[in-house]
Amino acid sequence: MSQEYNPFTIAKQHIIKAAKTLGLNDATLAILSTPQRELWVSLPVKMDDGSTRVFQGFRVQYNTARGPAKGGIRWHQDETIDTVRALACWMTWKTSVVDIPLGGGKGGIICNPKELSEMEKERLARAYIRAIAPIIGITKDVPAPDVYTTPQIMAWMMDEYEKVVQESHPGVITGKPIEVGGSQGRGDATARGGIYIVREAAKAYGIELKDQPFSVQGFGNAGQFAATLGESILGMKLVAASDSKGGVYNPAGINAQELVDYKSKNGSLKGFPNAKEITNEELLAIPVTVLFPAALENTINEQTAPSVNCKISCELANGPTTPEGDKILDAKGIIVLPDYLANAGGVTVSYFEQCQNAQNYYWELEEVHKRLDQKMTAAFKAVYEMSQAKGTNLRDAAYLVAIKRVADAAHLRGWC
Ligand code: NAD
Repeated sequence: MSQEYNPFTIAKQHIIKAAKTLGLNDATLAILSTPQRELWVSLPVKMDDGSTRVFQGFRVQYNTARGPAKGGIRWHQDETIDTVRALACWMTWKTSVVDIPLGGGKGGIICNPKELSEMEKERLARAYIRAIAPIIGITKDVPAPDVYTTPQIMAWMMDEYEKVVQESHPGVITGKPIEVGGSQGRGDATARGGIYIVREAAKAYGIELKDQPFSVQGFGNAGQFAATLGESILGMKLVAASDSKGGVYNPAGINAQELVDYKSKNGSLKGFPNAKEITNEELLAIPVTVLFPAALENTINEQTAPSVNCKISCELANGPTTPEGDKILDAKGIIVLPDYLANAGGVTVSYFEQCQNAQNYYWELEEVHKRLDQKMTAAFKAVYEMSQAKGTNLRDAAYLVAIKRVADAAHLRGWC
């Protein structure tokens, strides 16, 4: 992997920049730019054909100054330790920016889940948890789902951990099915959190949302909820949406729920009635008040950013805007709500799941929504105030808020 594209190198550049602005000393910078602990594990798994395959897995606990590590487990054939490190680092800032008492972690297994049967997945999930059991737990590190891992996989992992420690510990992992200790409201939490952030940003910058147009790039899990909640909570009008196969556009408005139902029935947005078919590039150029990038990373880049035509870009995807794309959006005066603030609703409700597991008492859906709204509103306010005080955009301000909180905790512990 080249230096330029090493994700952990990029993550460290953000830390160095924020450390300079905050005037942090060298020891603090060293602590913030080094993972606290990494575990590499090899996992022998019996395959359905009787053979044994040995999978490589990782768990990185990046920083626990503010509380136990927290972060998902990814299953991907191209997984690398650098990606896991970078994501564990970003989780540290994400839990900090929404001010939940947790640190940052991430895990991964190098595998292609599409080639594994359900039984093989279960054996792999259990092998991984047995291998990392000594370093996880409610006071140490709490994993969650991520790329290609599901609530079912979380249920197997929790069950295996409980077998290892011979106690009930539903809070050892979040993103579980409701029947085994999951939380109400986890399904739409990422999009809902982003919607609350858009509402607050519009208030702060004096932007009208009611009946105004919005678009969604990436009509998957996060994108579909952004579409329906953009209508129901913000009172906005969905005019365009796209997925990997292309998009649809109607300036008069598209009923978000009808589009969700259409996609679930037909597998794509193609052929949705009364809408023009558009490409992914064309979607970005449609004039809207709010654009939700909710697809993959790097979709708003040097080539596509010049045509982006929105007042607010709410990054539900992780890393949708490249540094070059960011500069172009900045120059155009577009307000970018940065990913680890805008999509932190998911980890916030994961934290609520941990709280409920610890109490062994479960909240109503309204309670989850109310508490999520409070957390996201407070997070936006802190970032907005920092951006005003330091004269930065919201992305830089979010780093300053998050990194300062972790640095303060490290100082108070006497680490630096
Ligand atoms: P998903 O797989 O359900 O949806 C992704 C969608 O993007 C799919 O519909 C796919 O067809 C579409 N897509 C792919 N390439 C595209 C392109 N070039 N243009 C337009 N659409 C394209 O995934 P998801 O869970 O909704 O996650 C989406 C993003 O949000 C990811 O970056 C993920 O890391 C981030 N995220 C999700 C959550 C969550 O709770 N789901 C939490 C935090 C961050």
